Amino acid sequence: MLYGDDKRNTAKYAMNGTKRRYTKPVFIGSVQVGGDAPVIVQSMTSTKTDRISETVHQIIKLEEAGCEIIRLAVPDAPAAEAIPGIKKQIHIPVIADIHFDHRLALRAIECGADAIRINPGNLGKEFMLSVIEAARRKNVVIRIGINSGSLEKDILSSHGGPTSEALVESALRTVAFFEEHGFFSIKLSLKSSNVRTMIEAYRTISGKTDYPLHLGVTEAGGLVSSAVKSSVGLGILLYEGIGDTVRVSVTGDPMQEMPVAWGVLRALDIRKRGPEIISCPTCGRCEIDLPSLVGEVEDRLASMKEYLKIALMGCVVNGPGEAAEADVGIAGGKRSGVLFRKGAILKKVKEGHFVDSLMEEIEKIIKEKNKQSKSC
Ligand code: SF4
Repeated sequence: MLYGDDKRNTAKYAMNGTKRRYTKPVFIGSVQVGGDAPVIVQSMTSTKTDRISETVHQIIKLEEAGCEIIRLAVPDAPAAEAIPGIKKQIHIPVIADIHFDHRLALRAIECGADAIRINPGNLGKEFMLSVIEAARRKNVVIRIGINSGSLEKDILSSHGGPTSEALVESALRTVAFFEEHGFFSIKLSLKSSNVRTMIEAYRTISGKTDYPLHLGVTEAGGLVSSAVKSSVGLGILLYEGIGDTVRVSVTGDPMQEMPVAWGVLRALDIRKRGPEIISCPTCGRCEIDLPSLVGEVEDRLASMKEYLKIALMGCVVNGPGEAAEADVGIAGGKRSGVLFRKGAILKKVKEGHFVDSLMEEIEKIIKEKNKQSKSC
């Protein structure tokens, strides 16, 4: 519901140590978004959707890396009709991404999409009505995806460009239209490639509606550029308790999005998954090839789901002490090093055995943790 100074505006609840702004929960397939649900990690496939086996292969890899909801491009009827075949083979809900042609939204809903994403800037109101009706019948969530690159012409000209106020006006106008027609299973996104614009737009909209918000910086560039922009944009908003789902957009393999998205959530203590690597910048005391060690450990642990803090430090003098809070770590010496747990040295290890010793210890820790959680 739209509201201004309503009490819900300031309703907050604690979760994973972070105070989150209240949002009305919706279900995308079996995944709750908003309410007391954790912040959900999303991605989007880069394959041609109707190449079912390629699309499924990419989704399964993304699932293993922590993707919890997947969006698929639906540019034509074969893409919509591929949805049942894809859904049979994956384990996470599917959002169909629709532009321009409302008939594709109708087809995607018929074919079992759990949610659809529409852009009101390129889908006329007269067509939205039939989409709303179809979504209502099938209990499908609609994400109203506002994008700075495709705002309605009258809004663009009245604001003089794709400002944060323009994004908010576009979102509120569409929300009002949906509400007038009795449809409330809504999720909102207000994306811009400008980080400040995006932050301001989400801050403003979160004070005006209680619909769940999907956060993202759009057209964020390659991995480094996207990681920086997304960490700043998503990070600031999540820290303020704003945001129910996140996507880090990277030009390239969507698998690159996962460590960044989970890294942002982990850095803010919102959710923890996978290894957190702590490594020193090295200095004149370092006598091992630390960059290669970090790369190898990251590769070997790429599919690890359990959260562990792993330290890779350049020297024994400062390493174990500086990384005392790590679950396990290696600190290098001269052609050798030490394996340590929580700052306490376990044993001396030869340089060629760093990774294997570390993996062995990590397996032990995971077994111990699993045993503990079973006995609780
Ligand atoms: S841990 Fe040792 S090698 Fe690494 S930065 Fe600190 S002093 Fe230098």
